[in-house]
Amino acid sequence: MQTAEIQRRFLKYFENNGHTVVPSAPLPAMDDPNLLFIPAGMVQFVPYFLGQATPPYRRATSIQKCIRTPDIDEVGKTSRHGTFFQMNGNFSFGDYFKEQAIKHAWALSTNSVADGGFGLDGEKIWATVYHDDDEAYEIWNKVIGLPAERIVHRGMADNYWSMGIPGPCGPCSELYYDRGPAYGPDGGPEVDEDRYLEYWNLVFMQYERGEGKGKDDFDILGELPKKNIDTGMGMERMAALLQGVDNMYEIDQVRPLIDKTTELTGKRYGVSTSQTASQSHPDDVRFRVVADHLRSSLMLISDGIVPSNEGRGYVLRRLMRRAIRSVRLLGYDKAALPDLLPVARDCMQDAYPEVAADFERISTYAYAEEDAFLRTLRTGTTILDTAVSETKRSGGAVLSGTKAFELHDTYGFPIDLTLEMAEEQGLKVDETGFRRLMTEQRQRAKADAQSRKTGHVDLSVYHQVRDTNGLSTFTGYTEDRRESDVL
Ligand code: ATP
Ligand code: MG
Ligand code: MG
Ligand code: MG
Repeated sequence: MQTAEIQRRFLKYFENNGHTVVPSAPLPAMDDPNLLFIPAGMVQFVPYFLGQATPPYRRATSIQKCIRTPDIDEVGKTSRHGTFFQMNGNFSFGDYFKEQAIKHAWALSTNSVADGGFGLDGEKIWATVYHDDDEAYEIWNKVIGLPAERIVHRGMADNYWSMGIPGPCGPCSELYYDRGPAYGPDGGPEVDEDRYLEYWNLVFMQYERGEGKGKDDFDILGELPKKNIDTGMGMERMAALLQGVDNMYEIDQVRPLIDKTTELTGKRYGVSTSQTASQSHPDDVRFRVVADHLRSSLMLISDGIVPSNEGRGYVLRRLMRRAIRSVRLLGYDKAALPDLLPVARDCMQDAYPEVAADFERISTYAYAEEDAFLRTLRTGTTILDTAVSETKRSGGAVLSGTKAFELHDTYGFPIDLTLEMAEEQGLKVDETGFRRLMTEQRQRAKADAQSRKTGHVDLSVYHQVRDTNGLSTFTGYTEDRRESDVL
């Protein structure tokens, strides 16, 4: 089943069940200073959950464009993490709660394709519940009839959902699909999350989260005014299951990018025979990184982000640079985006016509970024390689902070690029030393700016020259000396 059909069916099912279809919010999280990008479908509904605004509907459904930068290092190495993905969700604002949410997810997952469902084999579905959520357990077991061996209790890190920042939160229940022994050992999601693929999370949004650290260490401030439902089904994960492919990078919306990259580089994709992404050959990972990151870049520029050195623009720059480097590591050192970006557009334009309508602007930014980065790479890589071999020759395992700073300051190498490239050659980088030099540079710049403002410029160095050499006469206007004479 193609992604377009999965999306259509999802919305249709929930529309038929009284949900209003709500469009995706744009990727940049403009209303929330704590978030750079939307990581989940519920973000645009936060004021409804908190009771700060009254929703114009009791039930909603959406397909939300998401970016999760914390997942960047997983891309291509697991079968299921993209930096960009689409979360299909259904939401209840003080309307139905646990039982109905579980029934909907089960029905849509297992209803036959002829009946508008996804036709998954119910015998292969596992569910998780929060460790003390007896109510959810009973619904799975008694109402749905899921045997006890396929219901797993898990703790806060996996089964208590929040945005990672203050806001609505609650225990959750997730659906996993057993892809069989070719993908890993049996024993359920606790044993292997590659074989048992998490594809849908049902959050029982009932509490308000306060400050705290990350996913599993925070205060609960109290109950929300109403009991709500927030669910997220990973569209790419469902597509991987329904298209019979091993991972989300091989679905119809992504795979053509991998194919085009094989054409350009002449390298083969699928070097690893293992179906488990975690045991992949580095080239296979690179192909997936190219496909994933370029798709994300297309969607980000389409939503108004442009490459820059800070904030959202820097995330985009980093994604583009990782993709471009991966193409080079696959052996192609010319500009690749003019060949690859149109393929990403063709994959996404059915669902997002704006990427085609705006492609001229999007590609202008993207191609300029690639050209600039290729220039940076050409000069900086030689410097880095020399520094790496010198370090190794002298028996060191750590590239100096001074070198990393020079690469940053003179050649425009961001520190994470130096880290990544040094690591590929088996070296660590003295990050503390690098940061110290950065701080010193910032302080110097600040002092300079301050003295310009106050007019108190430090002239002592000129005084020293005068004291040693005496006063000189300026002859610049009367004597004609060409640059070549001076040199
Ligand atoms: P995982 O444990 O696999 O990292 P998660 O528990 O972090 O996933 P949730 O926060 O529960 O994910 O998000 C809801 C759903 O969105 C997931 O069940 C999954 O289908 C999908 N999803 C989450 N992160 C990604 C991602 N990086 N790429 C693709 N789909 C994702
Ligand atoms: Mg995750
Ligand atoms: Mg999970
Ligand atoms: Mg989850």
